[in-house]
Amino acid sequence: MCGIVAYIGKKEAYPILIKGLHRLEYRGYDSAGIALINGKLNVYKCKGKVADLENFAKDKDKSGTLGMGHTRWATHGAPNDANAHPHVSQDGKITIIHNGIIENYHPLKEGLKSRGHVFTSDTDTEVLAHLIEDIQKNENCDLAEAVRIALNEVIGAYAIVVISQEEPNQLIGAKKGSPMVVGVGDDEFFIASDATPIVEHTKNVVYLEDEEIAIIRRGEELKIKTIKNKNKTPYVQELEMQLEALEKGGYEHFMLKEIYEQPRSIKDTMRGRLDEEKLKAGLGGLRNYQQRMLNADRFIIVACGTSWHAGLVGEYLIEDLARIPVEVEYASEFRYRNPIITEKDVVIAISQSGETADTLAAIELAKSKGALIIGICNVVGSTIPRTTHAGSYTHAGPEIGVASTKAFTSQVTVLTMMAISLGYNKGTITEARYRQLVNELEAIPSKVEMALKANDQIKYIASLFKDARNFLYLGRGYNFPVALEGALKLKEISYIHAEGYPAAEMKHGPIALIDEEMPVVFIATKKGAYEKVVSNIQEVKARKGKIIAIVTEGDTTVKSMADFVIEIPDTEEELVPLLSAIPLQLLSYHIAVMRGCNVDQPRNLAKAVTVE
Ligand code: GLU
Repeated sequence: MCGIVAYIGKKEAYPILIKGLHRLEYRGYDSAGIALINGKLNVYKCKGKVADLENFAKDKDKSGTLGMGHTRWATHGAPNDANAHPHVSQDGKITIIHNGIIENYHPLKEGLKSRGHVFTSDTDTEVLAHLIEDIQKNENCDLAEAVRIALNEVIGAYAIVVISQEEPNQLIGAKKGSPMVVGVGDDEFFIASDATPIVEHTKNVVYLEDEEIAIIRRGEELKIKTIKNKNKTPYVQELEMQLEALEKGGYEHFMLKEIYEQPRSIKDTMRGRLDEEKLKAGLGGLRNYQQRMLNADRFIIVACGTSWHAGLVGEYLIEDLARIPVEVEYASEFRYRNPIITEKDVVIAISQSGETADTLAAIELAKSKGALIIGICNVVGSTIPRTTHAGSYTHAGPEIGVASTKAFTSQVTVLTMMAISLGYNKGTITEARYRQLVNELEAIPSKVEMALKANDQIKYIASLFKDARNFLYLGRGYNFPVALEGALKLKEISYIHAEGYPAAEMKHGPIALIDEEMPVVFIATKKGAYEKVVSNIQEVKARKGKIIAIVTEGDTTVKSMADFVIEIPDTEEELVPLLSAIPLQLLSYHIAVMRGCNVDQPRNLAKAVTVE
């Protein structure tokens, strides 16, 4: 959500910033802008894509070795040219880019207005630019100090970069609640929302903590202080990210590339962990807490969106294999509903980006009640892994497509390993069953490979249903969360209305929607409540609904009833989501492409939802 990139060094900033903004596009945005200082400050910004900004800036002065760029995801004020960032102060000398929300912007704005400030946008961000200027003038201090004082007056979340025409050798960044990373190169520095724009320039980074300010001056070392004026020593870390992981590698879209990467990404998730003997001691990052997990009264999984669906699979797995009660909560509801949390609870927070604002707030709440907090995140070094007591990275590699695919299967893989290990240690599964599950999980990457072979057939099915206005996804047991995820994928990228339901719930309402116009996707794999799902298929057939069924290879029963069947390899019931999710990802992908939608950057959506 929103992208920030900034540069100070010896090179021309513009090409670095534009490339950086392209790298950040995946986060989701609606307008873009850039500020450069070369003697004077130049700001260019407009509604639309980074390509529109490049076009807009084509014949303009783009010189300067200090600058910053922004992709905005509107929270305050419509997505238009005036509200796009950077925003400038009243005297036009200070400029700022911002990710987050300044919650008390209104009283601050009224105060500034009464002191003669005039605003040109509806954003909360512009208020901060004026506030910094106001403070600098009143306190007669330098920019860094004015930023520090201003941030003490701000309530809300922010990642900001500030530069001033009057101090052209200085870049200032600060954060609270929104992510920010500083890249440390040779005589040059970068600031960005995540490491993607930095990785091609340097592998040395410093992740800022909340309420920290990075003060970067040409020819000097990076300085970090808190907004309470306490000096901090920068902790430089090395990035593991590879540049190739950020490129499309011959695929038409990132989403397709990421769907096809799953045999590898699932393997990467299991690498070094799925060893029959080793896993008994628990997942690497969780070993010290294994006993506390085994003794827990209850697990509470908090997450949003696709991660919430992975959490639901986790509930089925952990209750089934380890017999520990599990609740799955929407982080946004959990944090505001006064939930009961005790020291005997284990809270598992799942977030691809590791920055999800609601999930972070849920963690803080659970932490304050003494629960053990475990994170399952994909982005290494992101905020959630740094906030939790322990955790397990999914190691799926950067996921650029906004609609999550490989991150989902990797989250489910982590939860599966966790449940198997806990089950073994609790004695709720036998040693033989433990070995069977571990061996079968090892075989999943090659089975995903086989499931991907249905691509052409799925593409054909997509061509027949691309103009449908509604879709229903039905599954039971382990395939119920998969039905929810399949429906979410379709609505996210194709804008077709889709609902996921437990198949038996259909009779309690959605069945009224079924007619010959309604495609119904059944996930009807063998095992589990297969026979029951077959009955549900009959019910839809009797009402002339169009049936697309995901079945276990060799199935003949469903084949005789459904309009289309897509086969996936057989596996243990507990592992089915890792396979049944695959055709649903491909189905939504092809439908979206055929409808001409921007699959990698669907409208209104953001990859890292850093505001609540
Ligand atoms: N709240 C700011 C705005 O609406 C920043 C939004 C963002 O994070 O992109 O302009």
